[in-house]
Amino acid sequence: MRKKIVAGNWKMNTLPAEGVELARGVAAGRGEVNSDVTLIVCPPFTHLAGVIESLNGANVEVGAQDCATEAKGAYTGEVSAAMIAALGCKYVILGHSERRQYYGECSETLNKKMEQAYANNLTPIYCVGENLEEREAERHFEVCKQQLEEVVFNLTDAQFKNLVIAYEPVWAIGTGKTATAEQAQEIHAYIREVLRSKFGAAAEECPILYGGSCKPSNAGEIFAKADVDGGLIGGAALKADDFLAIGKSFE
Ligand code: PEP
Repeated sequence: MRKKIVAGNWKMNTLPAEGVELARGVAAGRGEVNSDVTLIVCPPFTHLAGVIESLNGANVEVGAQDCATEAKGAYTGEVSAAMIAALGCKYVILGHSERRQYYGECSETLNKKMEQAYANNLTPIYCVGENLEEREAERHFEVCKQQLEEVVFNLTDAQFKNLVIAYEPVWAIGTGKTATAEQAQEIHAYIREVLRSKFGAAAEECPILYGGSCKPSNAGEIFAKADVDGGLIGGAALKADDFLAIGKSFE
């Protein structure tokens, strides 16, 4: 049985006290979500300590939205994987399309970040996905394959067993446009096939999350597909009730 996961990417939203309130709201409703669903919140770095403290004992995991390529040293403004792990984070989102697009993150950078994540026992949530132009040119399979080959294929078998993939079509992120459940299943199955070609049967255990304007009204249909193991949620993760409702959307 693959893990079911709903992870909230808060992006650069909420002030620290608001983040703690949001986390408390998620903790308060945690019991309504099936215990076999892993809930993860990914607040900004500045909120991590407060959020982790407020979630104490609530069975809600915490992830960071990024980490540095280097272990430590003279890298002004950077936050290392060791720092976030020391606070109690278990996950880190890497390769989000906003990082690729606005901060020029390429596979070379992401390989270093993945290495730092694993060196500090963090589980990467590695994002892949095509933009609108690539989808319209029917290049989405090729784009996702390349993003996997250039980074995930460098992992050891042991590291791969501790990985979450998020498929996030860039054209669906924050746009209100969602991939149809059929489109999501088609590419999730393809991603799993690519992973199987490198890691064999272990690919069956790798959770592949869908992300892109996922909300309570569409999560159920998408999560019902065979190769969709949950969601990476942006906008709808900023309201505890919506986030929890998505957590309750598995069949
Ligand atoms: C995201 O950016 O990870 C995301 C899925 O955003 P949204 O749900 O707002 O489209």
